[in-house]
Amino acid sequence: MICPYCKEEKDVIRRGTRKNKFVKKQQYWCNKCKNYFIEHDGFEGMTYPKEIIAKTLHLYVEGLSLSQIRDYIIQHEGYYLYDASW
Ligand SMILES: [Zn+2]
Repeated sequence: MICPYCKEEKDVIRRGTRKNKFVKKQQYWCNKCKNYFIEHDGFEGMTYPKEIIAKTLHLYVEGLSLSQIRDYIIQHEGYYLYDASW
């Protein structure tokens, strides 16, 4: 893991996790510049876990309506998709 602030690689340690409503991310601590940062996975800003997004898109392509998809996700994944703008 490389620190995004000072590009240090060796002095970076795992230190806990940070989570929003659904997503839990590994949090890192840079011993050199004393900054916290979280891993980057290309899904920054997305509220839902990757698997849920992928599954939702798949169901949408399959022709399910948005309310059917929401029911499916709630029943099968245990996620309640509130404040979903779709
Ligand atoms: Zn650093």
